Amino acid sequence: MPQNSSFQPRCPLPRASDETIRLAHGGGGHLMQQLIHDIFLEAFSNSYLSALQDSAVLPAQDGRLAMTTDSYVVQPLFFPGGDIGSLAVHGTINDLAMMGANPRYLSAGFILEEGLLIAMLKNVAASMAKAAKDCGVQIVCGDTKVVDRGKGDQIFINTTGLGVIPEQVDIGPHRLTPGDRIIVSGDLGAHGIAVLSQREGLEFSGNLISDSAPLHTVIADLLKHSISIHCLRDLTRGGLASALNELATVAQVTMTIEESRIPIGEPVRGACEVLGLDPLYVANEGRFVMFLSGSEVNRALAILHKHIEQSVL
Ligand code: MG
Repeated sequence: MPQNSSFQPRCPLPRASDETIRLAHGGGGHLMQQLIHDIFLEAFSNSYLSALQDSAVLPAQDGRLAMTTDSYVVQPLFFPGGDIGSLAVHGTINDLAMMGANPRYLSAGFILEEGLLIAMLKNVAASMAKAAKDCGVQIVCGDTKVVDRGKGDQIFINTTGLGVIPEQVDIGPHRLTPGDRIIVSGDLGAHGIAVLSQREGLEFSGNLISDSAPLHTVIADLLKHSISIHCLRDLTRGGLASALNELATVAQVTMTIEESRIPIGEPVRGACEVLGLDPLYVANEGRFVMFLSGSEVNRALAILHKHIEQSVL
């Protein structure tokens, strides 16, 4: 026994919870295979993925396909109301939903920074798996790369989504018509402010929780009730104002909104005032803007309210 009273016995092997991503986890060898099996196949379990072929071979789909891709970079990885994993699933599903498509399959590409805790990656994968299951989609192929310490930001995720657009559905800026009404699906800015305040350690009054949520169910319900939706856009980075600007430019129309009628929760409004932000430009991850003719507004609002009451939005 050493005389030094500060001696502490140490376990020679790292505890499982201390294990970190090493460059070899992206090297194509044994460690990478182990990572794929222990984390991704375990979490995403389905026959397309576990075939481990160069491509997932999917059944023919009945209808037009919608395909989209997006990369997710967020700090912190876990924030009130979500994390980078659920965000990557919801964000891509929402881009499909904005075309009226029923989401079916996702890919998942991971760029991992050397030194990332494997336990954290497991949590992200579990969150993605739960979000995908809840939305009825399967993650059917994927990729993993590891970059040197300091050359990434823990985890970057890219997800590509494939969905099927039902017959007769035609949604897009080409259908914007003079006189269309503009509806936002809920209160704005909660995602952006929740992530910002968590990242910067800011405390605001009220409960700031990200609005991250899948939107395909409510869109499918609107279409099922034969609401003639002219155009949809999910409100992500840049918020409502950027989405409206983009659409107005593409469709060569002007739009008028009544700011006082746009719902913004008190915690978001207060935080925006303190930070000098315009809530119309703050990010959302579970909100959309919808354009339709005035005669459809009441029926559409009734369906939206039903979903809000059921906490779907
Ligand atoms: Mg979008």
